[in-house]
Amino acid sequence: MNPFSYVRTSDIAEAVRAGSGQNVKFIAGGTNLVDLMKENVERPETLVDINRLPLAAIEETSGGGLRIGALVRNTDAAYDEKITKRFPLLSSALLAGASAQLRNSATVGGNLLQRTRCHYFYDTATPCNKRVPGSGCGAIGGVNRMHAILGASEHCIATHPSDMCVALAALGAQVRVTGAEGERVIAFEDFHRLPGDTPHIDTNLKPGELITAVDLPANGFSQHYTYLKLRDRLSYAFALVSIAAALEIENGTIKESRIALGGVAHKPWRDRDAERLLVGEAPAPAAFDRVAATILREAKGQGHNDFKIALAHRAIVRALTQAAAGTPQSQVDKRVA
Ligand code: SF4
Repeated sequence: MNPFSYVRTSDIAEAVRAGSGQNVKFIAGGTNLVDLMKENVERPETLVDINRLPLAAIEETSGGGLRIGALVRNTDAAYDEKITKRFPLLSSALLAGASAQLRNSATVGGNLLQRTRCHYFYDTATPCNKRVPGSGCGAIGGVNRMHAILGASEHCIATHPSDMCVALAALGAQVRVTGAEGERVIAFEDFHRLPGDTPHIDTNLKPGELITAVDLPANGFSQHYTYLKLRDRLSYAFALVSIAAALEIENGTIKESRIALGGVAHKPWRDRDAERLLVGEAPAPAAFDRVAATILREAKGQGHNDFKIALAHRAIVRALTQAAAGTPQSQVDKRVA
């Protein structure tokens, strides 16, 4: 690990000032950043410890939604009554992620900023355009079982590892940030980027900007939702494919649908055109099958991960079926009623 200087503050403006220097990183839970520093993937010269900033509350917003402070720990968010009752999709996604110990430490803001788990990214002996722009991509033509089937580029086929972010994309969250130019709000879909020819840039945050909160709109789709995560083992594993599905159903007809995919792209994947196909339909397998085919119409495998296309199709149909049925939503009992 490289030497670095360490700053700690309890003042947001001071943190932003400290964070505006060259090669500075904010640190909170440290569940990803410390690993990356140990592997020499991240080599910050300064760490700004933000754990003492006043950003650890979950509050009601005037619009009937919730504001989750950036420093709320994943465990606290997952078990907060306001979230379990009104936004159970988010709670379910949070509990599908990582391990209990990691969730106790990891923060909501840090969850948004975690970096890909592509093995080549962590292995500094291999080429990786995300780690060293222009060096190549070890995963293309390499071992790519975990990699992207949607939105990838010739420069990077990595996936975003978060579960929480898949639920936030489906719920239409907003990210509140503050920086040298003041505060701004970023729609969740615009927060993460596709790799294109700049895979080293994961998000649309400006240099030095600090995430302060995530806002949830009022509608939590608490009656018809599911977070379905398919992975190699039932806990402490990243998604091969995950689906956040949320439906609003009135008199047997779908009024609104949200479908976000994890484990398949460089960012949580939403397709508004596909979602619109369900509006006005009865919640039935044929309609869900059409939506899955639409979402995956441009899916492309890289060899080892070709199986993900069929897996994602079945997972979308299954998740929508579960959401429509309103079945119990524990991570270990995902049977369709
Ligand atoms: Fe690096 Fe992306 Fe290629 Fe992985 S997929 S080796 S992160 S460029």
